Amino acid sequence: MKIITTIADVREHIKTCDCNTIGLVPTMGALHRGHLNLVEKCSAENDITVVSIFVNPAQFGPNEDFDRYPRDLKRDEAMLEEMGVDIVFYPTTEEIYPAGFSTYVDMGDMGKVLCGKSRPTHFRGVATVVLKLFNIVAPDYAYFGRKDAQQVLILKRMVRDLNVGVTIKTVPIIRDEDGLALSSRNIYLSPVERESALNLPRGLVKAKEQIENGLRDALEIKKLVEEELKKNPLNKVDYIETVTLDTLENYAGREDKRIDINNTLVAAAVRVGKTRLIDNFILGEV
Ligand code: AMP
Repeated sequence: MKIITTIADVREHIKTCDCNTIGLVPTMGALHRGHLNLVEKCSAENDITVVSIFVNPAQFGPNEDFDRYPRDLKRDEAMLEEMGVDIVFYPTTEEIYPAGFSTYVDMGDMGKVLCGKSRPTHFRGVATVVLKLFNIVAPDYAYFGRKDAQQVLILKRMVRDLNVGVTIKTVPIIRDEDGLALSSRNIYLSPVERESALNLPRGLVKAKEQIENGLRDALEIKKLVEEELKKNPLNKVDYIETVTLDTLENYAGREDKRIDINNTLVAAAVRVGKTRLIDNFILGEV
């Protein structure tokens, strides 16, 4: 496994490799089983697997956790080595954003809803860094988790709108045994906060069950998740929404408020203490 820190070296290495397909798994490190599942799928489907580890400052707001975001390259390296990864791209901030950097991808309305409401520059940062990674690595396939469903839908739109020659593949949400979606941020949670956070997956499971029983009303779905989250006063709801998969249009804004069970993302974000957690389920194809 090669650890490469410069754009020039990645390009050089990829140019000289004898391979049909290149797969890319972009990450911010502090790896867990969710990331490894992406890597596994990528390795199974491509000749060369590149994993990038870059805590991207452009996707953090001024009062967010960029400085304290967990970083442990040695541990990540050992995990990726064991998985048989070919290249780890681990650039510095200056390598990705040299002095004078000023070009960003504007995701329009899709970047303003759900997580974009409380994190107004987040998706611009995500889309920009992912497009840069696509241009640097030139992968055939790139792998993303459905845990960050809005991210997946936005990146698919970016690829379509900007004619990027990369196919995006997705993997399901990987959860801990207690149901909490794995996240590098889960280590911030105290035991009491973690217990409280479990109401997020519980609320979503309840909503999904009721949808399977025939519930279609967007506001009723939202209420089910909300009731579960509000059982614990530590949970501060950021949003609970039902939106379409293609444009992220909110079903609650439609006159009939009826979700389409082949085209719906039910997504929620909650703050538990200082930690912001997201979770979702998808009805339809992504
Ligand atoms: P991050 O390092 O948080 O930027 O995540 C890197 C990639 O891993 C993204 O595509 C995430 O959606 C994905 N990912 C993170 N956590 C999970 C999870 N619990 N299940 C599936 N994918 C995940």
